[in-house]
Amino acid sequence: MMTLAQITTAVGGTLHTDLAVTTVVTAVCTDSRAITAGCLFVAWVGERFDGHDFIDQSLEAGAVATICRRLPETLQSEKAYIVVPDTRLALRDMAKAYRDGFEIPFLQITGSVGKTTTKELISAVLSVKKSVHKTPANYNNDIGTPLTLFGLRPEHEVAVIETGMNHFGEIRYLAQFVQPDIGIITNVGDAHVEFLGSRDGILQAKSELFEGLKPEGVAILNGDDTLLNTVQLPQKILRCGTSDHCDIQVTAMTDLGLDGIACTVQTAQNTYELHIHALGKHMIYPVSMAVAVGELLGLSKAEIEAGVAGYRGVDNRMNVVRLGQNRIVLDDCYNASPQSMEAGLAVLKSTPAKRKIAIIGDMGELGDYTQEAHYTIGKLAGSLGLDLVITIGAKAADMEKGARDAGGNVVHFATKEDAYDAIGKAFLPDTLVFVKASHFSMHFEDVVNYLKELD
Ligand code: ATP
Ligand code: MG
Repeated sequence: MMTLAQITTAVGGTLHTDLAVTTVVTAVCTDSRAITAGCLFVAWVGERFDGHDFIDQSLEAGAVATICRRLPETLQSEKAYIVVPDTRLALRDMAKAYRDGFEIPFLQITGSVGKTTTKELISAVLSVKKSVHKTPANYNNDIGTPLTLFGLRPEHEVAVIETGMNHFGEIRYLAQFVQPDIGIITNVGDAHVEFLGSRDGILQAKSELFEGLKPEGVAILNGDDTLLNTVQLPQKILRCGTSDHCDIQVTAMTDLGLDGIACTVQTAQNTYELHIHALGKHMIYPVSMAVAVGELLGLSKAEIEAGVAGYRGVDNRMNVVRLGQNRIVLDDCYNASPQSMEAGLAVLKSTPAKRKIAIIGDMGELGDYTQEAHYTIGKLAGSLGLDLVITIGAKAADMEKGARDAGGNVVHFATKEDAYDAIGKAFLPDTLVFVKASHFSMHFEDVVNYLKELD
């Protein structure tokens, strides 16, 4: 990887060491519990922990160097200490320097919902022809993004980076050092309203991605998103969706229930007939964006089709879990926003089953919109003619109200533990259950596991 001299220059730090400046670090690590031999430990200052308390321990565990704001009282021999004013900025600058060593296309994906789904589908398509490096799991913040870049290896031919965001300035921060050749915005929805104020605020924040987009780069945008359709750029824009103005247009879509969707995608060059093994009409956006990227990076029609056909969804996002007695769990417990709740409930509605139940819980980060959003989602759930709606959580009390007002059969519980008994009783043969809530506050994987254990 990089030498001590290269790193010190990249971060503008001061090096204290008895090692040769040509010593190479093998990896970069911010977690003292995950040190590997020869790595560089960055003393990250977080909300709950200060990495400076773990420097000695990390070096003893095998790290060869550390980036820190201040030196420990005693320096260990055959170790290197690089002192900088801000370790967060140092991690960014080092990642930028490392990234610049790769002359491959960089894709950067942001948006309110569907970033990971889009990243995975694009990666599945590109992997048919190229060696792809992608953001592991959901590692999309200001630590995850630089660490993702350090995962680049000489064999990689393209990088697909997911960027999350909660606050203004965060995408600018991340986009400026990723400097994508292709910048993708999945949509501008309600997620993170709490911190950004309004949908215009969200658009403004997401648009920061374009500040890092290379001048000769291409933006790929959801062409059915009213706010995104107002975006004008000096760079080329490809709009993907069903609207007539879309450059990559989805002209037909068939819902295949638990088998996913089929759609026809029209580009300037080709007509694609695609079958996506993932649930929900919203999959037309990731798939049309994957077609756009595939064509931009020179894949053939057959390669793009093979990539889409091979895609099998992402864990805990509308996963179909088949259990005994014809019972099926739609595991969407990964996270929830009003937009993804609507998308999930739409799938539940359109999927044939003898009995249908929704187990839905609190959605976080909605600020002043919290009550209204829960009521609206409850109303929707209550209007679908489901056999039962189970709402769980403090905020979800408004879901219960909405579901009741819509004439739905609904029961509410304050916690998952309170609900298990009712869930168990309702999980009869031939039942389809949809499970979804915000991850951070609700952890509905516990509900999914509970259902699995009933099998
Ligand atoms: P995070 O901000 O947590 O990283 P994300 O943007 O990466 O989320 P995903 O993990 O891909 O989003 O999907 C989250 C949820 O949204 C899932 O329930 C998924 O089924 C649903 N979803 C994905 N794409 C869309 C879309 N275009 N419209 C509505 N819902 C979607
Ligand atoms: Mg994600």
